[in-house]
Amino acid sequence: MQKNLIRWYQENHRDFPWRQNENPYFIWISEIMLQQTTTEAVIPYFERFIKTFPTIQQLADASLEDVYKLWEGLGYYRRAKHIHETAQIIAEQYHGVFPTTYQEILSLKGIGPYTAGAICSIAYHQSTPAIDGNVLRIMSRLYLLKDNIALTKTQKKISDIVAKLLTGYDSSAFNQGLMDLGATICRPLQPRCEQCPISDFCLAFKSNQQKVLPINIKNIKHKEIHYITGIITYQDQFLFIQNPAGLLENLYGLIQYEQESPYRFIEEFEQQYEIPLSIVSHITDIKHVFTHRTWQMHVYHFVLSQPIDGLYTLEEINQLPISTAHLKVLKAFLKNRD
Ligand code: SF4
Repeated sequence: MQKNLIRWYQENHRDFPWRQNENPYFIWISEIMLQQTTTEAVIPYFERFIKTFPTIQQLADASLEDVYKLWEGLGYYRRAKHIHETAQIIAEQYHGVFPTTYQEILSLKGIGPYTAGAICSIAYHQSTPAIDGNVLRIMSRLYLLKDNIALTKTQKKISDIVAKLLTGYDSSAFNQGLMDLGATICRPLQPRCEQCPISDFCLAFKSNQQKVLPINIKNIKHKEIHYITGIITYQDQFLFIQNPAGLLENLYGLIQYEQESPYRFIEEFEQQYEIPLSIVSHITDIKHVFTHRTWQMHVYHFVLSQPIDGLYTLEEINQLPISTAHLKVLKAFLKNRD
């Protein structure tokens, strides 16, 4: 798997100005700029920044206003402030030379584990994982991990897996390979598995669950209810049930359970209806705000193996009184399907 990924990266990597050499200063600036911004938008900012401040010392000697000026339009100005402060620390404590150990780099202002890992692996070829959303998604799919990637313990587990995978391989090409794979092939909604260099090793692909994973359900906030909401189909029909008493009484709606994963949804459904259900894909996440509560609906498509009461065609659904929240969900599903 590692060899396939590294070879693919070497042959297909995207060309960016910060990939022209292994200067840790350039890698640092690019990684900070890329934190909230797309690569295309970052390129001109990066080029201007490096042209104005070709060395850390020149950045440290500049005024904060000059740094802000170059940052104008990128947003999140705290990043620019941290970059300036860190350049001054490096100038004073490290004689203007970028530090070389993971711990030293991690201790700098505005640098977290991902950025420290990226710098150490790309600039110094150290075996440090660089775990961001792309890597969490790829690893979840590769290993069919059903854990919620929003949780710290899952992120730690994935970081440990990547650390093992890296050992003995070119960590720079491996980490950057994962970055490029996540951006171009193993994308969040429509992964291009047929073009993927590591599909032979991917358990989600083998079991057709690449559109379900990763499970990414953020912490439940006050008055916010997280549901797994099921678009349950049988051939060209959709399952809708009439709500009993309570919120949205008598309106028709989709089945949803307050569960943490679509796999638990299946368990609860099968317990209630005694009919097997298979999972097809993650459709989207939709928020619906009522007066007193917010629904966070994590929408998944499931299929029934046999018919059941409550199945309706789209024409029939048009005649039913359906809650706005679930109408939104159905529209998102149909749009996604088209
Ligand atoms: S096979 Fe598909 S799901 Fe698996 S890593 Fe490749 S693109 Fe991602």
